[in-house]
Parts: sequence; C-alpha cells; structure tokens
Amino acid sequence: MTLTEKLLARASGKSQVQAGDNIWVSADVLMTHDVCGPGTIGVFKREFGKDARVWDKNKVVIIPDHYIFTADSKSNRNVDILRDFVKEQGLPYFYDVIDDPNGHWHFDPGKGHLNRQYGSHYAGVCHTALPAKGHTRPGEVLFGTDSHTCMAGAFNEFATGIGNTDAGFVMGAGKLLLKVPETMHFRLEGRLQPGVMAKDIILHCIGEIGFDGATYRAMQFDGDAIASLTMDDRMTIANMAIEAGGKNGIFPFDPRTAEYVDARVRLNGTKASYNPVELDRDQKFVYELVVELDKLEPTVACHPDPGQRKKARELGNIKLDRAYVGSCTGGKTTDFVEFARVLRGRRVSIDTFGVPATPDIVHELQSTRWGEKTIWEILVEAGVQMTENAGCAACLGGPVDTFGRINKPGIKCISATNRNFPGRMGDKESQVFLASPATVAASAITGRITDPREFPGN
Ligand code: SF4
Repeated sequence: MTLTEKLLARASGKSQVQAGDNIWVSADVLMTHDVCGPGTIGVFKREFGKDARVWDKNKVVIIPDHYIFTADSKSNRNVDILRDFVKEQGLPYFYDVIDDPNGHWHFDPGKGHLNRQYGSHYAGVCHTALPAKGHTRPGEVLFGTDSHTCMAGAFNEFATGIGNTDAGFVMGAGKLLLKVPETMHFRLEGRLQPGVMAKDIILHCIGEIGFDGATYRAMQFDGDAIASLTMDDRMTIANMAIEAGGKNGIFPFDPRTAEYVDARVRLNGTKASYNPVELDRDQKFVYELVVELDKLEPTVACHPDPGQRKKARELGNIKLDRAYVGSCTGGKTTDFVEFARVLRGRRVSIDTFGVPATPDIVHELQSTRWGEKTIWEILVEAGVQMTENAGCAACLGGPVDTFGRINKPGIKCISATNRNFPGRMGDKESQVFLASPATVAASAITGRITDPREFPGN
C-alpha cells in the first residue's frame, strides 16, 4: 500500500484498502477557524441538537486566523462565536486573539496595522500553528475546514480539507466517509542549488501536471532528497498539493520529523505518542515523476492559476507593482530568512509587504541577529512593511481594510503565497505571480520578475 492507503486502512480499522474503496475514517484531530468555524458549529448544532457535545473535546482545535486584523464587525463577531462555543464545550485547544475569555474581539484601526494587537494565546495561521503547537502527529488523520490542511502531510499524516457540512458531522461523530484516493508518486532526488527553494519544487510539480492534475489524488513525495529538506520545506510542498487539486500531500517519516514533532508536543503538552507509517516496497501509483532537485531553477506560477509554470529568468519583462511574503506556505521563519538573505543591504523598489504566519515567527525574526541587526530590522531597513499582526492577511484578500490587500485593478504582485486565481488577493483585475521568498525578494529589488541567483552570496 502507499503511505496514504496505509494511513486510511489504519484509521478505518482495516488491514488493507485500495484506491476507490469507500471507508469510514476516524479523525484524530478536527481543526476549524474563524471563517468556517461558525458555519461548522451551526451544522453540528442543527444535526446533533442544540445541547450536543463534540465527540472528543481534546481532538477539536480552533484557530482564528483569517479575517482578524480588520475593523469589519462581522469578521470580529466570528471570533466571538468561536469563543462562546469553546466556553460552552470546555474545549482546551482554542488559540484566541484576546486573553479575556469573556471579552469581545475588536481590531483597532487607530493603532495601525504594523503593531501587535493580539493577546498571549493567539497562534496565527492555522496550518503553521497546528504543527507549532503540537497538533500534527505522524500516523494520524487530520481534518480541517480549510483546503490547505494538506500541509500537515509533511508530518506523515493523512491531512485534508473538508467543508462545513462534513466538519459538522465530524464534530459530532468523530469520523467521515471517504473514498480512498489514487496516489501519484513524486520522487525527489539530489539537492537544491543556492537560490532555489522548496517552493520551486512544488511549483515545478504543479506545472508538470496542471492545477487540476491531481484532482482527488494523493501526492506522495519521497526519494533520496527528502532527508535534506527541512520540515518547513516539506510543509511548503505538502501545503500546495491542493493547488493541483490533490486530496492530500504526504511525506515519509524520518528522524527530522520525530525531532520536530517531539519538541512541539512537549512544549505545548499535547499528546506525545504516535505511530508513523513506513514506506512499503510494493506500492501502486497512478503516476510517477522523478524530480532532480539539482536541475531545478527559480520557478514562477504566472497569472491566472498555480499551474502556469515559467522560469523566473524568462519573465524579466514583467513589471511589478508590489511584492508580498507571508501565508502558511511562505510566511515561515526559514522563508523570511531567505527573503532577508537576498534583501540584506539592499532596498526594495516597489511596495513590499511581510506578514509572518505566527506570533512565534515574529518573535524569532525580532530576536535572531545577523551581526548588528535582527532579521526583522534588516527587512524593515530594506523598505519592507513588516507587520507583527501574524495571520492570513492578504493571502486571500479579505475585508477591504486587510493589510497588503490589492484594492486596485491592474496591480501585478509577486507573492510567496500559494494560490493566484483571479481575485485571490483582492481586486479581480489584479494579477498574482507565485514564487519563492528568494524570488520575491529579488523581484522586489528590481521591480520586475527576477531570478534570485542575480543576487548571490549575501
Ligand atoms: S495563509 Fe492563505 S492559504 Fe494559508 S490558511 Fe490563510 S488564507 Fe489559507
């Protein structure tokens, strides 16, 4: 069996499953956030009764992160709905924006977008927060009301996005009827060259199969190169499985996975035991691609979808209006380090926004020094508008006052985010080009799409 088949067989109590089987899968974790949480709670109450209890309060994780730093009252109210539900159900894993369990969330535009407005429990973007807070464990099944839930496949678990109706059902029953997906095999060999990042790997793969090339399929990434990829790298790759339509992305378990997971579950006091699935010799794939990392170049997905693959060096004629680094895919510490490596001692020439995915990442960037300066200071000096208000921000547009949102037609933006369908970051007439943080940095300097290898050795 493939890794996904093994995970699903275990979660359905069977010794064997194959692609196409319809099975009941038990959930280990259900995650929801401020956009889909209220709807999920509504379905749960409608179907299970207004006094119903969630199936297991230790397995429901609620992370407000999407429309947070906005004065939009309905968005603020969504966070309050989550808080009321958490209180009613006694849920231990709620990463609230404010510290007062009886309070109400209001964003204060008068304080501006750059300075921190959250309390001590806030965790930032759900997919980055889940592993950081010890909720992703090898061998488990994670359902989340968000398409990029597949990111947790980096940790050798079956992780997939589901809608509010399914999530309402999981909330009450702890299981879901699923069809076992076919598996596509992406064998990664060799090592990435300087200036080339994990983002380039996944943009290459999606370019190969198209934005619907993995529809309802598992994307399994393995091969000799995996050991050289950090957990952040693997998260970037698994995150974008959905950008090819994938049901899930999945990586094998190795000592690096264990090191990351063990440290995080210890830190947050979450369940420490887990049981990874190993690679079988005999696996049936519906597609095979060998990716030689040494040969990869900085890659861009052009407007209007993540499958429009081009090499960055071929796109120097595209003039840009803005640059953006952030999101679950591109707002991790290692993403900002690479962004800063290119920008250090240089200046951006276009509007450039930086949104760390989590408060912990803000802290790391503000406390890690390169010589005299912190990484945060290097970025601010380079002209990047860095916000401490970690979250989804303009990755999905959001309310009109969202930091970094594209509010004008015709804007061309290069972005380290994961999705670029028309209107994704705001105005429907804008264009978004997806790239690695290194390519975003180089492009922010020149004001046109630029191969980061033009700025080596910094
Ligand atoms: S950062 Fe973007 S892709 Fe990630 S969860 Fe938020 S909106 Fe979705």
